[in-house]
Amino acid sequence: MNAFAEPIHPSQLEALFNQQRQAFLSQPAPDISKRKAQLAMLRSAVLAFRDEIETAISADFGNRSRHETGIMELAGVVQAIDYLSRKLRRFMKRQRRHVGLFYRAGQAYVEYQPKGIIGVMAPWNYPISLTMIPLATAIAAGNRVMLKPSELTPRTSEVIKRMLAETFATEDVAVVLGGPAVGAEFSGLPFDHLLFTGSTQVGRQVMKAASDHLVPLTLELGGKSPVIVSQGHINDQTMKSIVFGKLSNGGQTCVAPDYALVHEDDRDAFVKAYTDTVARFYPDGPTSVDYTSIVSDGHHARLLNLVEDARQKGAKVIETGVNPERAITRIRTFAPTLIIDANDQMAVMHEEIFGPILPVCTYRTIDEVIEYVNNRPRPLALYYFGYDNDERDAVLRRTTSGNVGVNNAIMHVAQDDLPFGGIGPSGMGAYHGIEGFRAMSHAKGVFVQSRWSLARLLHAPFGSLANFALVMTLGRSRKRAADGKIKLGF
Ligand code: NAD
Repeated sequence: MNAFAEPIHPSQLEALFNQQRQAFLSQPAPDISKRKAQLAMLRSAVLAFRDEIETAISADFGNRSRHETGIMELAGVVQAIDYLSRKLRRFMKRQRRHVGLFYRAGQAYVEYQPKGIIGVMAPWNYPISLTMIPLATAIAAGNRVMLKPSELTPRTSEVIKRMLAETFATEDVAVVLGGPAVGAEFSGLPFDHLLFTGSTQVGRQVMKAASDHLVPLTLELGGKSPVIVSQGHINDQTMKSIVFGKLSNGGQTCVAPDYALVHEDDRDAFVKAYTDTVARFYPDGPTSVDYTSIVSDGHHARLLNLVEDARQKGAKVIETGVNPERAITRIRTFAPTLIIDANDQMAVMHEEIFGPILPVCTYRTIDEVIEYVNNRPRPLALYYFGYDNDERDAVLRRTTSGNVGVNNAIMHVAQDDLPFGGIGPSGMGAYHGIEGFRAMSHAKGVFVQSRWSLARLLHAPFGSLANFALVMTLGRSRKRAADGKIKLGF
């Protein structure tokens, strides 16, 4: 059973850490069968707790449909676990590396060794997948894990704690509950690796705290991900993808399209098609059963302020799907909102929106679009919709973002074999795919010297063999005979 309930004292955190450290030292590298068994246990636990998870998440958000939790979280977790189990043998395999001429017949190889204890810090927006996929990755790489879910989804975090306490020994996997204060203590522990998912602002603090012990980090942060729609490319598929990407989880998705860049001739068509598509997806408007509420009053107020600020600075605001005759009684619903004619004076064009608001900006040429993106912090994701391959290639080649989706939004996250991560202010490092396994493993290079090799003969006093070796490696043309010691051309 997990030993600690909130509030947790720093000394308790350390005790928990030391317990895992001792366990790691006594059993440092679980074999493939143990790792697969742990992955299978995690998979079974998630499925066994499915109902509880769906209920807790909906209660935490105010509303989130079971379908959305199933599709956006549980399916992804199960798929990731299955992927890791399937690939594990290949991931763990010792890798032969090239051996230089003078070191033959030695052997060089890389051994992927568990790092030890991995800290995982998670946000609230996908409270299951953003805890369970890092956990599964860490387990696959043979590690022990301390996990801190978010305080903003307290019911779900309680379920996570209970589920993992029933599934794993604390020395293998431990859950620590708490808010920013606990997070600050947690991020100061001497982990062997820390995977933090959350805001860029808190990511900075976590990086500072981790630097005390030089803890290696994976930072999965946020940012403003643009969606670029090629001229004339407003069609059913495009709009469905954009609305799906933007409004899933009520827009509270790190890789959701943050703002749209639409050709100026297409602006009105885009607005109409977006509005129509929202009405098809959510026939009862913001009170539709499939429409997710905003997680907290604070975030709800923040979104209202973003819209009000844009309105006051001259934007046209369109609330889609709202029926003026039907009062909205469900808590913290926020209508899908378009901000037309957004400009850089508005906060909505600076802050990560993280809600169902989509600013629509217009462009005349694709060069303008590329310049606009490049003049801003590097985004976590970038989306391009269009069939103009030259234009698409120009966008991909000349911009830098964590990941890219072409003719889809947010689907890259579901590709288990692709690395997932940001760059610069949107993140550091990646997980998913082999990149995740490697981030949580130490790539230990091993060189085994053979009984006989030329390298064994290269020692003082240097003579003709050393000369030969130098000619072989440096060549004859660059004569380095200035000190008279190296006689070339023998
Ligand atoms: P957050 O940064 O506020 O919190 C993340 C975690 O850090 C939580 O567990 C929280 O308790 C903890 N924390 C808060 N303050 C802390 C402090 N001072 N020191 C240490 N820990 C602290 O993020 P959030 O509001 O939960 O999540 C939203 C953000 O996360 C958005 O910016 C979003 O883009 C980002 N996000 C990124 C990804 C990704 O994969 N890149 C995924 C989801 C969310």
